Amino acid sequence: MDPASPTNRAPAIEAEGKGERMYPLEQAICTCQQCRLAGGRTQAVPGAGNYNAVVMFVGEGPGFEEDRQGRPFVGRSGQFLTEMLNSVGIRREEVYITNVVKCRPPDNRDPLPDELLACSDYLTRQVALINPRIIVTLGRFSMQRWLPGASITKVHGQVRNIGHGRIALAMFHPAAALRNPQWRREFAQDIQILPNLIARASKANEAAARGEALPAGVPHPGDPDYRSDSAKPVTSTAQADSSGDKPAGLL
Ligand code: SF4
Repeated sequence: MDPASPTNRAPAIEAEGKGERMYPLEQAICTCQQCRLAGGRTQAVPGAGNYNAVVMFVGEGPGFEEDRQGRPFVGRSGQFLTEMLNSVGIRREEVYITNVVKCRPPDNRDPLPDELLACSDYLTRQVALINPRIIVTLGRFSMQRWLPGASITKVHGQVRNIGHGRIALAMFHPAAALRNPQWRREFAQDIQILPNLIARASKANEAAARGEALPAGVPHPGDPDYRSDSAKPVTSTAQADSSGDKPAGLL
């Protein structure tokens, strides 16, 4: 692991037991029949990555390659996402990546409302278990979960306090960025604020884990007046976290 990486820091929340608790959840996803998408899948795609990640990426749903391999973002979009992460010094293995629906919609159509609803609790449980400080929403379906009513073309690149000691960073879906040159440029620009967000969240986690007050001058994403160094406007208004996960407590 890169020692200079901002995510390579002592986590505030112990990873102990997370794998044991994630395994039955992933098993439940892999055998789930709760919506019509079960009928067309090769296999479900629960998610992949670091169970102790500070940042979680949430996309839309598996595509052809993901359905075939059982892993999220492994096709062209995934390659682009990995390249973008690497461009700002973040390795993919350090983060956790999943989708709002875990099974591939036929012909890559948009997930339907009842499918999103049927699959919602799995994501709630993943967020509660991993307890990320930063959720990066990739595309509008993921964005709508935490920023209901927002427009992706207006809020991408912005940071919102979503409660429970978390922030959300809205970004275009990598597939959309690949289709649209302007969105691709904006995706590359938006992701540049992530290392700073991770570094601040990690510092806050470390302080909280030691039972210390947060270091002076180290604001953390749970602060109502938190501001990133992004040139974009930052909304600090707390919004309800529809994930329903347990309050973070320490942040
Ligand atoms: S998309 Fe979600 S709710 Fe539907 S079958 Fe797959 S895992 Fe179950």
